[in-house]
Amino acid sequence: MQKDRTKTKKEEGLSAKKLRKTLSVLRVSCPPALPVKVRRGKISSEIYGDSSIGEKPTAHFLIRIATGMDENTTLETLLHEWAHCLSWTASHQRIKEHGPEWGIAYARVYRCIVDEEL
Ligand SMILES: [Zn+2]
Repeated sequence: MQKDRTKTKKEEGLSAKKLRKTLSVLRVSCPPALPVKVRRGKISSEIYGDSSIGEKPTAHFLIRIATGMDENTTLETLLHEWAHCLSWTASHQRIKEHGPEWGIAYARVYRCIVDEEL
């Protein structure tokens, strides 16, 4: 009987410890205009993650990241969404989705993670 490798070698997502460390670096080195909450869970099968602005109880950015992805995809998704938050202003004005402001923010986010050697 063949061993079921899908069960024994389940792909691990970004570990909670690494996620916490990455978030603490981002919060210090690349702080967006509002606090950022990060949730991991089941979201639409179409997307890896998304980001939005929440009002309750206080204004914040919310990043949602899908579970069941490998570590690299999870990290890439976090950095991508963090760059959205970083490019938004406190007045909540949404800007062009992947325009120049986002590109600059993404480069900045990437740089601070590379510098920390995470
Ligand atoms: Zn995006």
